[in-house]
Amino acid sequence: MIYFVGAGPGDPDLITVKGARLLAQAQVVVYAGSLVNKELLSRCAPGTKIYNSANMTLQQIIDVMIKAHQAGQEVVRLHTGDPSLYGAIQEQMDELRKADVPFAVIPGVSSFVAAAAAIPHELTLPGVTQTVILTRYKGRTAVPVAESMTGLAAHQATMCIFLSVHLIDQLAKDLLAGGYPLDTPVLVVEKATWPDEQIISGTLDDITARVKQAGITRTAMILVGASFKADYTPSRLYDGNFNHGFREGGQ
Ligand code: SAH
Repeated sequence: MIYFVGAGPGDPDLITVKGARLLAQAQVVVYAGSLVNKELLSRCAPGTKIYNSANMTLQQIIDVMIKAHQAGQEVVRLHTGDPSLYGAIQEQMDELRKADVPFAVIPGVSSFVAAAAAIPHELTLPGVTQTVILTRYKGRTAVPVAESMTGLAAHQATMCIFLSVHLIDQLAKDLLAGGYPLDTPVLVVEKATWPDEQIISGTLDDITARVKQAGITRTAMILVGASFKADYTPSRLYDGNFNHGFREGGQ
C-alpha cells in the first residue's frame, strides 16, 4: 500500500497520529525535500529506505513506489501541509491507478491554517465574510483567466495566497485594482510553526515595502481581508438563544 501523508506545515508534532504511525511502520519513505521537516524522518524505523523527491523525476518516484509495493513493502509519500493543495499528487495517483497499485491519502495540517493559528485569527467572521479563497498568483504555473487576482478580489472574502510572496508587489496592485480598499489588512506568515517563523503585518498600501524590508522571498502564506481588522457580530454558535444541530436538534 502507498500512503500519501500530509506532513503538516513544519512543526513535527503537527503530523496526524495516523500519519506518524504509518511513517513509523513504512519500509520506504519518499519525502518532498524542500519543505518537509527532516525531524519527522527520525520517526522512521532503523533500516527504512528514505528518498528525497526533490532530486527525482515523476517517473523515478513512481518506480520506487511501485517496486516497493511489489516487494510487499509499505510506502509513505510524505508531502508538506495537506497533500491536496499544490502537492502535485494527482499525477502520482493517476500513475498508481494505471498500475493497479492501491493507495490512500492521509490529510495534513495545511500552511494556511497554520498561518491563521500563528497570528492567531479566525478566517471567517459573521457579518464580514463567510468565505475563504485559497489561491496563488500567476507565475510559471498559469492560473485560469476566470480566477484572476482582480476577479477574486471582487468577492472581498478572506484570501489565503500560496506560492506568491516573491510576487507581492504585483499581487498587491492586482488586489487593489480588484476592489479591496487600501487599508485592507494583509498578514504574511513566513515558515509558520518553524522555530524561525516570522509574521509581518500591514495593509495593501504598505505590505510590499514591509515584506521586502523583512527579506521574505519564499515559504510564506499571504492572508488578506477585512476579517483581520473588522468589527463583527459575534458568532451565533455560542449564543444561548440559537439552537444548533448538535445541541438541541434545530438548525
Ligand atoms: N500542500 C502545502 C502547500 C504546498 S505549496 C500546504 O497544504 O500547505 C508551498 C507553499 O505553501 C509555499 O510557497 C507557501 O506559500 C506555503 N507554505 C508551506 N509551508 C508553509 C509554512 N510553514 N508557512 C507559511 N507558508 C507555507
